[in-house]
Amino acid sequence: MIERTLVLVKPDGVYRALIGKVISTFEDAGLKVIGIKMVQPDEDIAGKHYVADEEWLLSIGRKTKESYREKGQEIKETEMEIGQRVRNSLLKYLTSGPVAAIVLEGNSSIYIVRKLIGATEPRKADPYSIRGRFGADSYDMGDAKNRSIRNVVHASEDEKSAKREIALWFKNEELVSYKRVDEEYLY
Ligand code: GDP
Ligand code: MG
Repeated sequence: MIERTLVLVKPDGVYRALIGKVISTFEDAGLKVIGIKMVQPDEDIAGKHYVADEEWLLSIGRKTKESYREKGQEIKETEMEIGQRVRNSLLKYLTSGPVAAIVLEGNSSIYIVRKLIGATEPRKADPYSIRGRFGADSYDMGDAKNRSIRNVVHASEDEKSAKREIALWFKNEELVSYKRVDEEYLY
């Protein structure tokens, strides 16, 4: 069914001039841009975007531990400690430069966009995904440099977060409605 989702081209993606390629990937898959703007995020919006939700913090910890384990390494912090540390570095990352905020609309857009961006860690992301094509960063590299991993984009994870995130970054009147010429062939 037709859904909306939020994508942010993070500062590394903007500085590397990847905005066009990121948007093309979504447009090629049949998704429609219904909102778009450049924003220099402040601490307030970054903190609201990455809310310190306990389950999410733990999931970050789990993903990190798993990645270290696969490389035969061990990480001593608890999952929660990793989650909190990563959130702090994420807030620094998101406020470090301009981001392109984009709202996409289309059939199953939340799922399609997550599929197209690939796994969180560019080292592991599918080579045809946005994060796999445009990155090579890894958790251990990010940790060694005491920074968040650079993975070019953010995308909403589910319906609830998509609604919340779109309302955080866009006013209702900043979103437009129109028909793509190929819509009747897409769906
Ligand atoms: P996403 O939904 O795939 O972006 O992943 P998450 O919501 O789990 O994490 C949010 C962001 O935090 C990621 O896109 C990365 O930029 C960063 N990040 C997540 N986990 C780690 C980590 O273990 N170490 C570092 N350095 N950064 C991380
Ligand atoms: Mg996420």
